[in-house]
Amino acid sequence: MKKAARCSNCGSEARIARGDYQFNESGLRGVVLRDIELIKCGKCGNVDPVLFRVDELMHLLAVAILRKPYRLDGEELRFLRKRIELTQEEFARLLHVDKTTLSKWENNEDPIGIQSDLLARTMVISRDKRLEKRAADHIRTFEKIADRQKHVRVEVDAEKREYEYA
Ligand SMILES: [Zn+2]
Repeated sequence: MKKAARCSNCGSEARIARGDYQFNESGLRGVVLRDIELIKCGKCGNVDPVLFRVDELMHLLAVAILRKPYRLDGEELRFLRKRIELTQEEFARLLHVDKTTLSKWENNEDPIGIQSDLLARTMVISRDKRLEKRAADHIRTFEKIADRQKHVRVEVDAEKREYEYA
């Protein structure tokens, strides 16, 4: 059976193919969804991912970022803050820093210090029911966090609900 769909950009009929997708909509650089269905438009070149259970996917990404074995970069910190639906002002208050400091961290103008990084991750866990269920597990991985910033790619198998750092 030939599968077809519509392009979200130009409305033309588009074909469905499988492939890897750079998930920039997540707000994170370097998240790749491996081997998912893609709606590829031959007319305008637009590619739309076919995403299922988006909330679970976002939760999986939050776990991957929380357990990242290096200090968080700005996008990752912002991603985690948005997961728990706090404004910069509210999150800054939790971390006992001023909003300008947090803003500089999130914009990669200043690197976050390792202690603030650990506190930020812990606060995120405490504010998210699903993360909190496995809090001890998550926090145990913090021992392996290296005190330096390093960008890692996160490759996600959306069907198996697994991720790995690449
Ligand atoms: Zn199109």
